[in-house]
Amino acid sequence: MTDQENRNQLHLHVAGMDRPGILADVLGEIVEHECLVVDIKQFVFNGLLNLSLLVESRDNEKLTSLNQTLLEANRIRDCQVRATPWDRELRPEEPYCFRQVVTLLGRRLGSVAMAELTATLASLDLNILRIEQLDYSDHHVLEFVIGSQKPMAGVEVLDALVSFKEQFEVDLAVQEDSPFRRNKRLIVMDADMTFLQCEVIDELGKVAGCGEQLGEITRAAMNGDVDFAEALKRRVALLKGLTVDQLNEVSRRIPLTPGAEALVGILKKLGYKIAIVSGGFRFFIDRFKETYGLDYGFANELEIVDGKVTGNLVGDIVDAQAKRDILLSLANREGLAVEQVVAVGDGANDIQMLAGAGLGIAFNAKPIVAKHARASLTTANLEPILYFLGIPGKEIEELRQMSRKVG
Ligand SMILES: [Mg+2]
Repeated sequence: MTDQENRNQLHLHVAGMDRPGILADVLGEIVEHECLVVDIKQFVFNGLLNLSLLVESRDNEKLTSLNQTLLEANRIRDCQVRATPWDRELRPEEPYCFRQVVTLLGRRLGSVAMAELTATLASLDLNILRIEQLDYSDHHVLEFVIGSQKPMAGVEVLDALVSFKEQFEVDLAVQEDSPFRRNKRLIVMDADMTFLQCEVIDELGKVAGCGEQLGEITRAAMNGDVDFAEALKRRVALLKGLTVDQLNEVSRRIPLTPGAEALVGILKKLGYKIAIVSGGFRFFIDRFKETYGLDYGFANELEIVDGKVTGNLVGDIVDAQAKRDILLSLANREGLAVEQVVAVGDGANDIQMLAGAGLGIAFNAKPIVAKHARASLTTANLEPILYFLGIPGKEIEELRQMSRKVG
């Protein structure tokens, strides 16, 4: 007889309104009956305790006696106790070697949406291992950990949820349930229309009197219709003659995206390094880096001679490939796995960076960009990014207060 066969095990489930001492009472009985606790888990759902214990003994009579004692009326005061003989292996989640975390964010995720989602997951033979409600305030946020016994990439799950996402107008992230998921340490953000609520170059175009012509090129570049570097050079040429005073004037009135400052404050509290990697200009990015205490800032350099923009750029262009390269080199410099890096962006020149990060978030992005990212956000505010990092609303509020006090 093997050691496993020699063991007798009993699963105990205790449910009742939570109060101090319930587990102590249960364990008192287990000790009294000389049984061993081999696994334990509890959670409190809206004040209702759910406690599971797996106990074992080589002496089956002790388990039977424990069972009878616990099932006596009101032995564990005001709790329902259920005992079931256990003849399975430990760790029932183990067969699900491919695990993903699906985070849903919407105004209100009603039961119809939940039914639709779970039916889709079931049709893919994906089992739901855990559900957490991260928030139920302005945003309704649910996190599902799903498991599959056969290889299942996150992108397959995302593809399967495309019509669900559109039908119920939810934002969605699908991430691998790896140890790095909650241990991200670096965020790399695009500037224009991501950290900033405008395209800076378009603002410069307006001041230079060529706003319409320049804006057209920006739109085409961000949609991926024209080569980024070529589009940038054409636009910079249109800026020839702008003075440093005019650049400063534009710099002062560039609006940050709502939530950008709070997001930075919270991520800094959590020990994140923060980088802006922009296809725009260092003249502006350096200022934001300094003002908000960011760790890194990368962008293109406008050539300025005698206080005036020449219409040329200095040095290499920060295009899509460069953005990705910078992300990877920052991860390397910080000693991080790429899985610990979050990237956020909206334009076609962000696609490679989003695809290269552990979590790429398309923020109010053009469709071609959203298609390449594992997460998308269509809120006006950047802060909901924090939900995709697994942070519940209650903790976001605490962190917000903390970062305000310091700031
Ligand atoms: Mg952008």
